Amino acid sequence: MKIAMIGTGYVGLVSGACFSEFGTEVVCVDHDADKIAALRRGEAPIYEPGLADLMARNADAGRLTFTGDIASAVAGADAAFLAVGTPARPGDGHADVSAVYDAARAVAAHAPDGLVIVTKSTVPVGTARELEGLVHREAPDRELHVAANPEFLREGAAIDNFMHPDRVIVGANSERSRSVLEQLYRPLSRLETPTVFTTLETAELTKYAANAFLATKITFINEMADLCEAVGADVHALAHGMGLDRRIGRSFLNPGPGYGGSCFPKDTSALIQTARGAAAPTRIVEAAAAVNDARKESMAHRIAAHCGGVAGRTIAVLGVTFKPNTDDMRAAPSRVIIPLLQSWGATIRAHDPAGMAAAREVIPGVTWCRDAYEALEGAACAAVLTEWNEYRNLDPARMKAALAEPRIADLRNIYDPASMAARGFAYRGIGRITPG
Ligand code: NAD
Repeated sequence: MKIAMIGTGYVGLVSGACFSEFGTEVVCVDHDADKIAALRRGEAPIYEPGLADLMARNADAGRLTFTGDIASAVAGADAAFLAVGTPARPGDGHADVSAVYDAARAVAAHAPDGLVIVTKSTVPVGTARELEGLVHREAPDRELHVAANPEFLREGAAIDNFMHPDRVIVGANSERSRSVLEQLYRPLSRLETPTVFTTLETAELTKYAANAFLATKITFINEMADLCEAVGADVHALAHGMGLDRRIGRSFLNPGPGYGGSCFPKDTSALIQTARGAAAPTRIVEAAAAVNDARKESMAHRIAAHCGGVAGRTIAVLGVTFKPNTDDMRAAPSRVIIPLLQSWGATIRAHDPAGMAAAREVIPGVTWCRDAYEALEGAACAAVLTEWNEYRNLDPARMKAALAEPRIADLRNIYDPASMAARGFAYRGIGRITPG
């Protein structure tokens, strides 16, 4: 089998590298010439654990190649996956599918007979059906197929997620689409990975429904955390107690500064727009999105209140990416929290193990530091925004020595309130019972 993977971002590059690991010949395409040049040199343009090794192994074996030329990539291919971005359209929150259409048009122009064009990008319901019309108009002389195969990988654990998915969702309305996708995913069948074959529309909507549900679960526990604080309860014990119910499950019950990243904010927003357009509004998702937006701002207020005001003071921010093990800064809560603190007169010193290069571009006026201890120097508060493992084991004595005032605003609950209080920190977590 041979496939073309159009778009070499988080999804395209990981999916392409993983399919090549399954033994498929993969040609990855991107219109960003610098990216292709870097990939050809063996450099991964994103930080994703294990990716560089996986790329190198399969490139050496000749199964994984990179090009800017769609025509050569699709020549002789069985499938072309579209893994380009679908960001929120500024202004109205709809998903911007223009890159998907551009890529589909370019693929169709050079597609061999029988090619299956697969949407791996997250696209609004109805997109694959429209692409069928588009590719037919572009290539009326050839039999082309369109399938929907939304991706569920999570940044930071993307390779493991792709190799060991909970499920594979395939929207297919032709025997050819179904059999090509079945063959491509056959290596997962020994893991007994459930594969759901369904319609194009159901596959597209399943992705949005899953992300909206998870975003709602996070928002639910965030509100429970606030309620815990108000009534003197502990959200960790509560989440543990809730999560032991198998109908609920423990995952995604970790309170924090609000969900961010490249998927949940834009996918909830797109789902809300789709649902309104279909006169079937998703009021629960609308509430979750609004509560989450407000939460990011309220986290800045929380830090300021914990410090008794931040004007003229230095705040040390530990972690700026939307979650650990990624360099992705898209919709990260830090992008709301840091500018607000700055607008109130705070000076920000910050550190992140992988996100500082990307963060520099989007959060101005920050002193970026080599490590956490350097960030803490002279600060009135250490604000933990991302739960990177390396922050969990910081030496409290060194933290205290570096800080001007021993104060921690732990927005990820990575420290134990009682032991931090015992070491003399003014500690505030999220939804925890704070001693003293
Ligand atoms: P990304 O922005 O990291 O990558 C997109 C890539 O596509 C870029 O390298 C860009 O240069 C390239 N591109 C855009 N238009 C092109 C064209 N016409 N021809 C060739 N290349 C083109 O995006 P991403 O995070 O990988 O997301 C891709 C899609 O997958 C989105 O729809 C997203 O919602 C979905 N998704 C993302 C994740 C995630 O964790 N990032 C998870 C599941 C699904």
